[in-house]
Amino acid sequence: MTVAVALFTQDLRLHDNPVVHAAHRAADQVVPLFVLDPDVAAVGFAAPNRQAFLAACLADLDASLRRIGSRLVLRHGDPAEQAARVAAEAGADTVHVAAGVSGFTRRRETRLRRLLGRRLQVHDAVLTVVPPGLVTPAGRDHYAVFTPYHRAWLQAPRRAPHGAPRRLDTPDGIGSAELPTSRPHSPGLPPGGESAAREQWRRWDVDSYADLHDALAADGTSRLSPYLHFGCLSAGELAARAQAHGGGGAEAFVRQLAWRDFHHQLLAARPEAAHRDYRAREGDWHRDEREADAWREGRTGYPIVDAGMRQLEHEGWMHNRARLLTASFLTKTLYHDWRVGAAHFLRLLVDGDVANNQLNWQWVAGTGTDTRPNRVLNPLRQADRYDPDGAYVRRWVPELAHLPGPSVHRPWLLAPDYPTPLVAPEELSRRLRTARALDRSGAAPGPADRRGGQSAAGSTPNG
Ligand SMILES: Cc1cc2nc3c(=O)[nH]c(=O)nc-3n(C[C@H](O)[C@H](O)[C@H](O)COP(=O)(O)OP(=O)(O)OC[C@H]3O[C@@H](n4cnc5c(N)ncnc54)[C@H](O)[C@@H]3O)c2cc1C
Repeated sequence: MTVAVALFTQDLRLHDNPVVHAAHRAADQVVPLFVLDPDVAAVGFAAPNRQAFLAACLADLDASLRRIGSRLVLRHGDPAEQAARVAAEAGADTVHVAAGVSGFTRRRETRLRRLLGRRLQVHDAVLTVVPPGLVTPAGRDHYAVFTPYHRAWLQAPRRAPHGAPRRLDTPDGIGSAELPTSRPHSPGLPPGGESAAREQWRRWDVDSYADLHDALAADGTSRLSPYLHFGCLSAGELAARAQAHGGGGAEAFVRQLAWRDFHHQLLAARPEAAHRDYRAREGDWHRDEREADAWREGRTGYPIVDAGMRQLEHEGWMHNRARLLTASFLTKTLYHDWRVGAAHFLRLLVDGDVANNQLNWQWVAGTGTDTRPNRVLNPLRQADRYDPDGAYVRRWVPELAHLPGPSVHRPWLLAPDYPTPLVAPEELSRRLRTARALDRSGAAPGPADRRGGQSAAGSTPNG
């Protein structure tokens, strides 16, 4: 009887999981293993929203495994040590794991290799559609601009999605800790797990995505990001299904999956970009704790910004358009360090992800891959364009719910008790222009954008 260990990490699913598939093919019996790593908490990444979501994912995975004759083995400690220990207990010949992209996951892989040697098998294209490093521009190890990356990505070879195993035999006598339970910070957190993920994918209307993805009140995006972060869904399977479905909505959706892969390939090549500017910019960041608190608490005086921040607090999730404009407000209008905003998002986001969060923050702050690093999103123009009736603001800022239509975006005219704007509407890009010496150099673009921040090339990470 041969045995393999399938070490789950950010791939908490049975459908289209190359780790499970390979372990199943390699041996008669499989030990499905997840290790709760105290170092995740030690580096500050174990936010309550994600811990609660993870607990639900593990419970769902265990239930699915039990339905096919197996069960999840849970351990606490260093994943490499625990995987080696379980492999020894079970007499396993191989241990299978997904390739990661962050510095943290790379270090885990090094430890696994040290302890397991050739018994370790690392699988690509588990977390992303196209593995990082598969497509590269001539003479470089990663793409720094999305549009050419996207072109190459569309042509890249893909593996065919795997089905879920129908039966999985697991050896008896391998001890497991209790599955964790955890309370979220945000009351409106989505349900975790592969079953909920597949249900959400079935329920969501991809055809309307091209028209609705930027309409804040319509809430027409897939809301699959937490499931993709924890790997309850395979990005490769989603891309394949959407491409088979066809149409403008599916095409726009697949493009967002390419943005996800783009950030992953960049982080894989430059793990330090999780903390350090990817591209250096001039000017010291502005520091003001009172302003940062007002931003965190949704009291900036700009209701569209405040609505986004309150959605984040309540749901542990925020609409992409709101992420863009709240992040632009912090890093461009207030000119605060992007790391301040990224850290707050990571404290709350259920989909909080090193690649997507840090690199989107860098993109917005102009220290990342935006080809127009000095663009400033004007919250009033963003509000008029993406929340024209004010319904999104009224949903999240109840003290303004009595204001009709778009008047809700300018409360200083009708609701004198609402906080005064931290920065006056005519000053929205002043700090950035001063810090980056844009007026002296005559550099473009000018004050807050006229077009709501969408570039003609469509290379914003929002469709
Ligand atoms: C400042 C900032 C911080 C962000 N932090 C995160 C984060 O921590 N985790 C995260 O998953 N996304 C992050 N995003 C990207 C994006 O906002 C979310 O992925 C999206 O809002 C999730 O909603 P959805 O699943 O309905 O997306 P949809 O619009 O339905 O898109 C489908 C999927 O594509 C991927 N995707 C969409 N937009 C992007 C993007 N700009 N970059 C990378 N992948 C994308 C996501 O996996 C998403 O689930 C951030 C964006 C910004 C501007």
